Amino acid sequence: MVDHAPSPSQTMRTVPLRDAASGLDGVIAIHSTALGPGAGGCRFWRYPDIEAATQDACRLAKGMSYKNAMAELPLGGAKAVLRYPEGDFDRVALFQAFGKAVEALEGLYVTAEDVGTSVADMEQVSTMTRHVAGLHPAQDMAGGDPSPWTALGVFDSMRMAAQLALKADLDALTVAVQGVGNVGASLCRQLAEAGAKLVIADIDAERCRALADELGARMVDVADIAAVEADIFAPCALGGALTQDSVAAMKAQLVCGAANNQLATPDVADALLARGIVYAPDYVVNAGGIISVSAEYLGEDEASVRTRVARIGPRVARILEQAAREGRSPAVVADEMAEAVIAGAAEKAA
Ligand code: NAD
Repeated sequence: MVDHAPSPSQTMRTVPLRDAASGLDGVIAIHSTALGPGAGGCRFWRYPDIEAATQDACRLAKGMSYKNAMAELPLGGAKAVLRYPEGDFDRVALFQAFGKAVEALEGLYVTAEDVGTSVADMEQVSTMTRHVAGLHPAQDMAGGDPSPWTALGVFDSMRMAAQLALKADLDALTVAVQGVGNVGASLCRQLAEAGAKLVIADIDAERCRALADELGARMVDVADIAAVEADIFAPCALGGALTQDSVAAMKAQLVCGAANNQLATPDVADALLARGIVYAPDYVVNAGGIISVSAEYLGEDEASVRTRVARIGPRVARILEQAAREGRSPAVVADEMAEAVIAGAAEKAA
């Protein structure tokens, strides 16, 4: 999302979470239920006060609405943010109390893991409500680690974006990958298989060295990866990789990666446009994970996950084509598309 201002067809609702016995203290933010239940993970993190937690929840909930809408999922957008308690606390009791709060919303909100929460936490939530995903997958059903699906969607997006923006196939290109964790490493393997040259960096030097040896990639310092000589830059670490400074120094002509919230500030989208660097919008590119996680809740199998993930690349291509035709940032075009999908569903429901 380029900016965080509320749009007319969506109204943010916040539900306070408070349970003194377990130490539960947080908020569920529901941005839109026009397309279906508000879906988004549960973040468990230290926040100075409930206002800071609420602000983060609202920003993340809006992001989930846009991501789910663009992934053509029958889901709205929401997010839970729980404040990490000071001192000792009973984790099982806290997540059970959270599960009770989710259940009280009667399906308006579906939760899952996010930063700071685990499968074990969601298993506790599931003792109180069925409106939870990210559990251990049942036989033949979708679920489990979403990272390979995320990486597949990023790979397809990159291949199609490169053909459009760079008029080249991956075997003729160099890709700089920032962060070779679950998604980044899987992406690198697919890129190596496709014949791309790889430059990689990770703060975990040992992990990076092992992957570089495995794939014959060049390893560089984390401080250099965004400005290295390459055709494509793939942010696959944390958010905020694209700043005014990193964009000014970038040699790559295309940005396409897995990280959430790649634009440090909304105006970075304009800086990319001004420099002629094509930006594949992060939340469209990295939707494979939410597609996999939500399939578990929607009762879908692996074949439907594959079908949904296969639509990511062509969707990114359509956004880039429209943006190029209109001389606008793909980030803005994607936001408008998402808003139109949500507004259309809200109108139908009215
Ligand atoms: P991960 O924790 O497995 O990997 C992140 C990697 O980035 C780690 O190896 C870490 O050491 C490295 N890293 C951190 N800071 C760095 C820096 N400044 N420079 C270089 N490397 C750095 O996480 P992941 O699951 O691979 O996710 C990667 C990104 O993709 C995150 O932003 C995540 O929110 C996003 N994402 C992931 C999924 C998924 O399915 N896992 C889905 C959608 C979006």
